[in-house]
Amino acid sequence: MITLENVTKIYPDSTNNVNALNGVNLHIKKGEFVFIVGDSGSGKSTLIKLLMRELKPTSGDITVMGYNLGKITHGKIPKFRRNIGIVFQDFRLLPDRNVYDNVAFAQHIIQVPGRIIRRNVQRILATVGLAGKYRSKVTQLSGGEQQRVALARALVNKPAILLADEPTGNLDPNTSWEIMKLLDKINAAGTTVVMVTHNREIVNEMQKRVITMKKGVIIDDAEKGVYIDEEY
Ligand code: ADP
Repeated sequence: MITLENVTKIYPDSTNNVNALNGVNLHIKKGEFVFIVGDSGSGKSTLIKLLMRELKPTSGDITVMGYNLGKITHGKIPKFRRNIGIVFQDFRLLPDRNVYDNVAFAQHIIQVPGRIIRRNVQRILATVGLAGKYRSKVTQLSGGEQQRVALARALVNKPAILLADEPTGNLDPNTSWEIMKLLDKINAAGTTVVMVTHNREIVNEMQKRVITMKKGVIIDDAEKGVYIDEEY
């Protein structure tokens, strides 16, 4: 489902001599749950941006859902992106809109008919535990609720892959666990999940595959792994 072969990324305006990614090889199968961990600056966000084709690799091959992301034409990027849902640490919701509109927005973009949008949005809000909140303004919700809205928006188009870039980074421990359990449920229902995190407790408890990065290189890739200390 996701394959990286000898992928290197050098930012054009890079002032240091460190490659953001340096010869990365990686294979993620359909239905996997993968944590990506590592120090700040180790290349985690760069990896996520490459997977969603926000960036192109400097060299090497990236294939996601059968699309070769180094070669894909601009016209095909929107169709490719329908396969990918993404959530961020800072939620990135439309602040002046209510919960329903924030989620429906993703369906409008792909021109789903209105009647079907209403059904799909209600269904996904129930999945993330927000069925009763669809009229609330997102700015009046707690952080955990806002992240649930962001998850609903990421999932409403039924992507095969969910990319989560530090989704619990702004949340307290209890709320982080609630979001983690939701991500686990989404994964159990068939979505492949790739989650960047610094949350040691979650990584150690969940017993999932853990990929550890350092200075643009994968230094460890373990099934049922743990969070490896920075001194490693
Ligand atoms: P992480 O997500 O693990 O903190 P990043 O992928 O953001 O790491 O960064 C990896 C390396 O690439 C770092 O050395 C960082 O300074 C550099 N970098 C990230 N984004 C840019 C950019 N837009 N331009 C130049 N260098 C960048």
